[in-house]
Amino acid sequence: MIDPFGRHVTYLRVSVTDRCDFRCVYCMSEDMTFLPKADVLTLEEIDRVCSAFVRKGVRKLRLTGGEPLVRRNIMGLFKLLGRHLETGELDELTLTTNGSQLAKYAAELKDAGVGRVNVSVDSLDADKFRKITRWGDLAKVMEGVRAARDAGLKVKINTVALKDVNEDEFDTLIRWCGDEGFDMTLIETMPMGDISHDRNDQYLPLSKVRKRLEKTWTLADIPYKSGGPARYVAIKETGRKLGFITPLTHNFCESCNRVRLTCTGTLYMCLGQNDKSDLRAPLRASESDHLLEAAIDEAIGRKPKGHDFVIDRDNRGPAVPRHMSVTGG
Ligand code: SAM
Repeated sequence: MIDPFGRHVTYLRVSVTDRCDFRCVYCMSEDMTFLPKADVLTLEEIDRVCSAFVRKGVRKLRLTGGEPLVRRNIMGLFKLLGRHLETGELDELTLTTNGSQLAKYAAELKDAGVGRVNVSVDSLDADKFRKITRWGDLAKVMEGVRAARDAGLKVKINTVALKDVNEDEFDTLIRWCGDEGFDMTLIETMPMGDISHDRNDQYLPLSKVRKRLEKTWTLADIPYKSGGPARYVAIKETGRKLGFITPLTHNFCESCNRVRLTCTGTLYMCLGQNDKSDLRAPLRASESDHLLEAAIDEAIGRKPKGHDFVIDRDNRGPAVPRHMSVTGG
């Protein structure tokens, strides 16, 4: 699949549910309205869509959400999708999780062929962690992270950089990741969905963070690519990699290789644009996949050049109305 700007689309991210057992302050409001179950694709339908994408050249699948591990029988979907790893059609099957259920599922994920997992951890202070996630329990997440490592999964920690909230903890997080053998990625807050307070209060440009980190750590730019939008540095003191995802201070669209499927079967060709394509109707209209495949081709032909996220004093509302939990982070 090649889009109008010559970019090969080889990466599909799938939000398997809009539900989550956390309510992170930058992601959701506390009283979210979730989708009626009938609107949500069944696991078999998600497998059909993912498999169509794999046939069309997708080499990497990431399940996300909401929280992917709270979806009932989600391991059934991992096992189904794992068959594409066995045939060699797929290079990687992975997930992004808040870690709350990882202790339960780490071994099964490994058995299904998952090799790496991204776990979101914004603070190592239990009280602060609770404040950021509203409902999260840090001890459970730490148990999950350890279970993942013990099961032989590579762990990467994702941390959203939040002004005045966790900016004093980055050194601690980097040291912890170094001790545990985890890579880490810092993410700028993106203006997605109404969260019932002003995002300007949370926004912390990573260009500023990097300058600060350089006072403590020796950071060297490296060409490493994980298949995602992060730019990486090597940290000399810990021997680990640190990624920066900077949609606002540095646009990463020129190398974009991915599209995103929501749990209702809507395909978003860009995280930061509203254009979309409904794949559920062609999926349900026929038992064969030819309508679905035609709809995928048509959508890829409309992939936009880039997003236009802006956060400043004049742009306090969301750039796109949907929450990150709809398209997945
Ligand atoms: N529940 C899973 C988790 O916590 O990782 C997967 C879904 S979550 C939406 C994926 C990632 O998106 C998390 O790392 C989260 O911190 C991040 N995220 C959510 N809303 C965001 C926003 N507005 N800006 C930047 N990152 C965001």
